[in-house]
Amino acid sequence: MARAHNFSAGPAALPTAVLEQLPDALLEFGGTGAGIMEISHRSKAFSAVNARAQERLRRILGIPADYTVMFLQGGATQQFAQLVLNLLGRDDAADYLETGNWSKKAIGDAKRMARCENRWSSAEEGFRSVPRPGEYTVRDEALFLHYTTNNTVYGTQYSEAPDGQGKPLVADMSSDICSRPVDVSRHGLIYAGAQKNLGPSGVTAVILSPWALDRSQQVVAQRGDVPTCLQYAPYAKKDGLYNTPNTWGIHVLDLVLGWIEDQGGLEAVAAVNTRKADKLYAELDRTGFWTGHARPDSRSQMNVTFTLPSEELTKAFIEEAEAQGLTALKGYRSVGGIRASLYNAVSEQAVDDLVAFMGDFEGRHG
Ligand code: PMP
Repeated sequence: MARAHNFSAGPAALPTAVLEQLPDALLEFGGTGAGIMEISHRSKAFSAVNARAQERLRRILGIPADYTVMFLQGGATQQFAQLVLNLLGRDDAADYLETGNWSKKAIGDAKRMARCENRWSSAEEGFRSVPRPGEYTVRDEALFLHYTTNNTVYGTQYSEAPDGQGKPLVADMSSDICSRPVDVSRHGLIYAGAQKNLGPSGVTAVILSPWALDRSQQVVAQRGDVPTCLQYAPYAKKDGLYNTPNTWGIHVLDLVLGWIEDQGGLEAVAAVNTRKADKLYAELDRTGFWTGHARPDSRSQMNVTFTLPSEELTKAFIEEAEAQGLTALKGYRSVGGIRASLYNAVSEQAVDDLVAFMGDFEGRHG
């Protein structure tokens, strides 16, 4: 079977140019006589991969030189807890914005371990929006404001980072990292599972400001019970290689970052992403047949969510789309309908084909 246009929410499509480079590294890598998965994570050849990937992420995102970049395991889900154990003592406070099921999970963990509070939520209206400026306040005592840049399930996204009201931002960027420029310096900590825009699952990018690393050392000493594997400092001291990382995953991530640089970096990637999303939303808005889930000012460029007039039509849409090589369009179980994920590796052609299919489908069923 030929490669389809894959709209999966994650693990998601990877650039074909990256996939084509992978087979060689499986058998022999960098003059070592062994495949990339068969060499020590402390070898020169792998250290170079890890260092290059870190450098690339620094260049692409404009990460300040005094920040730490690490590729850990455990997914974004582990970070929900790990960041709290490193940034907050039991009596410390932090504030959260709840814009979808992932931020809800992050808050759930945080509340158990410190005085964390939800300061804004769109739960009651079905997570259709992100807050507008002025719709929430950050408590004086809060040490940071946590937000989820893009809500993968519901298809909403901040058009720019929310106002931390003088506090550092802590961001889950799992589903839109490296899809557009961001101001890293406003963030105390950034984390992202790789499996959407950066590579395969099993790698989590964690970016720590000097503030986060400092706090982590104080908090871990004060808490006294944070297991070593969940402390940031041991990883930070060893370039992320405190224990054995996902070496294969970091290799693929390095190649994906190289591909992003080849595209011209984030300005160029963002321009394509905006065009892709604009085309799909224009089709959604063209007739009353489709109903977009997100409030228009909160629409995500990464995950476009919408419903059709009935369950039968939704089922027919998914089946017919698949027959035409447009795959993984089924919405998340709690939302239903359709979700088209348009991460970096989803081509503009894929979106053009989807839009053409939608026009045709609506013509026949609308
Ligand atoms: N945060 C966001 C925004 C996500 O989209 C996801 C996964 N889809 C997660 C967190 C959880 O990530 P992981 O499965 O890597 O723990």
